[in-house]
Amino acid sequence: MEKRNIPISLPSMGVEEWEALRAPIESGWITQGPKVKEFEKMFAERHQVKHALAVSNCTTALHLALIACGVGEGDEVIVPAFTWVSTANAVIYCNATPVFIDIDPVTFNIDVTQIANKITPRTKAIIPVHLFGLCADIDYIKDNFPQLKIVEDGACAAGSGLRGRPAGGLGDIGCFSFHPRKSVTTGEGGMLTTNDDKMAAHLDMLRNHGASISEEQRHHGPKPYILAAFDIVGYNYRMTDLQGALGIVQLGKLDKFIDERELWAAYYSEKLKNISWLRTPVTAQGYKHGWQSYVTFIDENISPVKRNDIMEVLQQKGIATRPGTHAVHMLGAYANKYGIKPGDFPGAFIADQQSMSIPLHNRMVKEDFDYVIAALMDL
Ligand SMILES: *Cc1c(COP(=O)(O)O)cnc(C)c1O
Repeated sequence: MEKRNIPISLPSMGVEEWEALRAPIESGWITQGPKVKEFEKMFAERHQVKHALAVSNCTTALHLALIACGVGEGDEVIVPAFTWVSTANAVIYCNATPVFIDIDPVTFNIDVTQIANKITPRTKAIIPVHLFGLCADIDYIKDNFPQLKIVEDGACAAGSGLRGRPAGGLGDIGCFSFHPRKSVTTGEGGMLTTNDDKMAAHLDMLRNHGASISEEQRHHGPKPYILAAFDIVGYNYRMTDLQGALGIVQLGKLDKFIDERELWAAYYSEKLKNISWLRTPVTAQGYKHGWQSYVTFIDENISPVKRNDIMEVLQQKGIATRPGTHAVHMLGAYANKYGIKPGDFPGAFIADQQSMSIPLHNRMVKEDFDYVIAALMDL
């Protein structure tokens, strides 16, 4: 078979994205303005929430979401041990303490049955992560822990759903990412979603220096003498209108992208099902997977070689792979600060060591998928 080069992920952008940048560039309005507003409206409709507020990335979204939930010094926030580091970092930004919970190594999501053991009088909120586009079981959390604020880390979950409802409206606040590794992208970018009017107003001020009115209102409003009031300390976490213009086009393609990814994910799972040492992703009934990534698990007890060696062989064949993500409790910043040992969260540990994401994106063609499948069968 002829050698191919298959990146783990590639954004799908074309002439429409080019064209979309024209309007903000020509108008001269390039910070948060009409394009961001239109993008937010579309995003809110697609995710069936009352409010969507764009920000600079998902990490800043998580930071603001925790502030809006009242998280501060002395509070504890529950986070899964296997996730991108910024889920936990956002808790530290608020001077609060992240309390890790192990994951279910089959779904890679938080093991909700372990939450009860970690609740204390200081537990203020929980950040369930919809890892790789598969929703965490928010319904269980809502039913069993009504005292907790729920911030969905839906960085990978644009278009995902749980029991018929889209991600983003399942808890108190949802946070999304438009980093190029996610299914739709604006280069960098994030979105906050909520059905709560008060939280939305608070988030709106927090992302814009704490200002009571937006830049756009200030520049285009009828009363030029009015400056914003600044009654709270906020941040500059705004999205630009250039990104907003890209987001409108990309979001219009989201469902097509997911449908395509779903078909190819099923193709992978069918073709790879006879490799005894490779577990393909599991999607339970009632879950709408967004397929940000296709993450397998290698059973090193029976695999021909270890996960890392498999990744190297694939790399030599031009196929990019990655560990699914990392176990945050093993990263220096957390392991050292809290004295956590790798074995304290065995599910996250084994996922860190033995998960493998294989290429899945919307610029792959059938020959690419067949090439990856053949390489795995050859091992
Ligand atoms: C990508 C990702 C983030 C961070 O998103 P950014 O937009 O890059 O800040 C946070 N959490 C999870 C689970 C992610 O996958």
